[in-house]
Amino acid sequence: MNQTERIAQLEDEVRELKAQLYATSEEFEASNEELDKFKTQLEQMVELKTTELTARQEELEKLNRHQEVFIKVMQILQLEEDVSKGMNITLEIIGNYTRVSRVQIFENNTDGTTYSCRYEWCSEGIDPIIHFSQNLPLKYGKPWFDLLYANNIICTSDIYSLAPEIYEMLDRQYVKAILALPMSMYGTHFGFIIFTVCNDKTWDEKEVELLTNISQVFSNIIRRQQVETAMSLSQQTMRTVLDNINTKIFVAEYESSKILFANNTFRQEAGEDVEGKLCWQSLKSGLKGPCEKCPRLNLIDSNGLPTGVHYWEDYNPNTKRWYFIMNTAIKWVNGQLAVMELSTDITERKLNEIELVRAREKAEESDKLKSAFLANMSHEIRTPINGILGFLRFVANDDLSNERKQDYLNIINNSAIQLVQLIDDIIDVAKIEARQMNMFPVPVDVNKLMNELQIYYESFLQSKNKIHIMLILDDSGFIDNCIALVDPIRLRQVFNNLMGNAVKYTDKGYIRFGYRQTTPDKLEFVVEDTGIGIEENKHKVIFKRFRQAENHFRGGTGLGLNIAQSLVQMMGGNIWVESKIDEGSAFYFDVLFVPVNKEDVVV
Ligand code: ADP
Repeated sequence: MNQTERIAQLEDEVRELKAQLYATSEEFEASNEELDKFKTQLEQMVELKTTELTARQEELEKLNRHQEVFIKVMQILQLEEDVSKGMNITLEIIGNYTRVSRVQIFENNTDGTTYSCRYEWCSEGIDPIIHFSQNLPLKYGKPWFDLLYANNIICTSDIYSLAPEIYEMLDRQYVKAILALPMSMYGTHFGFIIFTVCNDKTWDEKEVELLTNISQVFSNIIRRQQVETAMSLSQQTMRTVLDNINTKIFVAEYESSKILFANNTFRQEAGEDVEGKLCWQSLKSGLKGPCEKCPRLNLIDSNGLPTGVHYWEDYNPNTKRWYFIMNTAIKWVNGQLAVMELSTDITERKLNEIELVRAREKAEESDKLKSAFLANMSHEIRTPINGILGFLRFVANDDLSNERKQDYLNIINNSAIQLVQLIDDIIDVAKIEARQMNMFPVPVDVNKLMNELQIYYESFLQSKNKIHIMLILDDSGFIDNCIALVDPIRLRQVFNNLMGNAVKYTDKGYIRFGYRQTTPDKLEFVVEDTGIGIEENKHKVIFKRFRQAENHFRGGTGLGLNIAQSLVQMMGGNIWVESKIDEGSAFYFDVLFVPVNKEDVVV
């Protein structure tokens, strides 16, 4: 092929290629347009999806915020030990979050007729009304409760849509929107939670859901609080009763007798750490086993069923007290068999019973003694009276010599003295009994009194034909110028009784009397004789009224020592005897010694 032909061929090829290129470019343009359309469509779709996504995201964010609030509320309520504090904090969080004006929790009171606001939170500028919302009568809130409990929720942004009696109430508080939820458990309503708003507010569905959930939590807490309060109140009541009852109460395991519970009265005696100890060990020391009379084995029957209450009385040598005890088998709180014991102190009653028996015995004895005394007395009175009357008759006889007459007159005189003495004794006993015996203490020269007694009793011994008995005034313990403030008549009377007895019951030997100072404020007197003596077991009884040693009879009324004892006690002292049968007796008595100046001596 020549060059021209080659060029022509190339030109054809170029033309061909151009035509091909043109066709592709047209195609290309067409596809470009298609692409643009598609792109626009895609962009529109993306925009729609983005808007949708943004909305979803906002919704999610809102939900997240709600959840965060819910979690925060739950955390606070769980972690805060002070429940009331926790409630108040969470109310504030919710109030601020939902931008309401006031959140209140009302609960029904235990009286069943009123309700009170228990918790309240107010936003800034809103005055609290909790103080005016206490003990409101349930009946006044009836329309409100009816609506709330019927619908289980009151949620409105327009209170005027509610019944007039309700919106009037809310209107007074400038409320425009409310959300109220009942608090209830197992179908029982015990209060409600109310969110009030004083400006325009639209309740969001999710917000209502959040508040409903939180309200449910509050509701549970309030219920728990109510139950706990009721339980602790009833526990306190039980404790107070158990601890203040004047009866010891304990519960012990049936098998082991280990104490499971003890009330305060029991613990006071057995110790605070008594739980876990064996009941019989905690009550009585030294016991090697349960109390002898313990009815434990009889408290249940052969089927292991309680047989009822068993009563018994017991004396506790540790406390030295008597108890009336009640035992019964019970099922303890953990289901195990236990013994409950209630013991009441009956010591006073027991003592009264013993006292009554003693008093009866004493009354019977004193009745016997009085009869004996009367019999004795009539003899005692009759003897001097007979003496007086009999010898008066003799004296009237003109034939009598003057000497004989004088003898008879002496007998009459002595009988009269004896009679007067007896009557005096009876009067003294009566006076002492009626507490009408008074002391008239004056300064007395005791040494002088002793000397006078010696002179008197020397002649007395003579008159009794007992001149052979030596009368010794023992002045070894005398104090110089011993001036005491005593009743001289009564002091002399005590001496007369003791000296009279000494003379009466002594036939040989001596009678010694005197005094000594035993303590700075006591003078101790003694009258000792070598007479018949008194058996040891009579040393106390002879001071009792109408009581005599009974191993002899030498006349007398059995009143002398008793009167002496009463008088000595009135002078601030005691009287006692040391004596051996057939050897003699020494009567001692002491009196209060109040020294005074010699110049003041009256007697
Ligand atoms: P009574 O009038 O019987 O002597 P008292 O009360 O003076 O009454 O004495 C009570 C009893 O005490 C007397 O009956 C007597 O048994 C006994 N007694 C009192 N003093 C003496 C004494 N010095 N020696 C022996 N027995 C005495």
